[in-house]
Amino acid sequence: MKMTQEQLDLIKKQFATLKDRSPFYAKKFEGIDIASIDSQEEFEKLPFSEKNDLREAYPLGLMAVPEEQIVRIHSSSGTTGTPVVIPYTQKDVDDWAIQFARCYEMAGITNKDRIQITPGYGLWTAGIGFQLGCERLGAMAIPMGPGNTDKQLQMMQDLKSTVITATSSYAILLAEEVQKRGLRDKIFLKKGVIGSERWGEKTRQRIQDELGIQIYDIYGLTEIYGPGIGISCDEHSGMHMWTDYVYMEVIDPKTGKVLPDGETGELVLTTLQKEGAPLIRYRTHDITSIVPGDCPCGCKYPRIATLTGRTDDMVKVKGCNIFPAQIEEVIKMTEGTSSEYQVMIETISGKDILTVLFETPLEGKEKAKAEKELAAIFKAKIGCTPDAKGVPMGELPRSEKKTKRIFDSRY
Ligand code: ZN
Repeated sequence: MKMTQEQLDLIKKQFATLKDRSPFYAKKFEGIDIASIDSQEEFEKLPFSEKNDLREAYPLGLMAVPEEQIVRIHSSSGTTGTPVVIPYTQKDVDDWAIQFARCYEMAGITNKDRIQITPGYGLWTAGIGFQLGCERLGAMAIPMGPGNTDKQLQMMQDLKSTVITATSSYAILLAEEVQKRGLRDKIFLKKGVIGSERWGEKTRQRIQDELGIQIYDIYGLTEIYGPGIGISCDEHSGMHMWTDYVYMEVIDPKTGKVLPDGETGELVLTTLQKEGAPLIRYRTHDITSIVPGDCPCGCKYPRIATLTGRTDDMVKVKGCNIFPAQIEEVIKMTEGTSSEYQVMIETISGKDILTVLFETPLEGKEKAKAEKELAAIFKAKIGCTPDAKGVPMGELPRSEKKTKRIFDSRY
């Protein structure tokens, strides 16, 4: 994607003083005169940033302004090690709100809407981001936070929520409860803004059908504002990205080479206006492509394709590389499957055993047929044959946060 003059100007402005303001970048770019960078080609020679670099800066090493200008911090989850702490200035918080409000507007949400917010509030950027954008837009926030499904459904009816915001796992749980309790005629939802994990077409379809809403995918990560830096539009052909706040590149994850638009690789983001903790060429590990050409919706902001996975989600079994998105594709193509599935990988007597559990309303012979079909499609699409087992609807665990679907117990 060609860097615009406006983007280059913002990068140059940032680079002019970055090393003086930030010991982190003074060290990272030691021996590189970033203040003299004057073109996309020169910019593309800069080293990437990784989550591990940010971890090493724990707790406040990323701070690039005097502390009195920092108004809050957020932190990404530390499940895999030291957390990353991102400091925000007031301008950063305001800019995030502006971007998030744009997302709501893109989804056709107005100040007459009532937005039920179910992602969690706290250190991570989810709930508080949905709230910021909602207030900026002037809509009515119903700040539920996660869990307590009974209360969620009660408030949804009593306050006549028109928009639900959730992770896809929680949205499916709510959709199932609405159906189970026969509440479809008592709720007023029109739209869903769903974020924070990659999900399959079947899940989307079920949430849309069971709640009777139109769904928009929202993109973002804690390291770069949080959710709200991009969203899908009515065309549902990728997510528009607010490129006045981030510069995006898609690279080959192995070689680091920048790929042409349309080619699939890893998304790399650079913040253009961030003060508290600017990020330069940050590797998101999200796999996508830049969608070439203009969107039929008329919006001029460029798009990335729906995420197909993360570079670190790939598992290798029996010599083939498996991405979660491929498994979803197989589930989608197999008749008689529902949206929920689980993949188990284990070693039994030195051999890798791959099992796919899927929920299905089918029983007996019909179930056996679906199992056989799934295994065959899996083999054709991915290259190895799993043990496919149909289980009754509702048997696999649901989660209020991200649903873990691949369990690798080999290590
Ligand atoms: Zn569009």
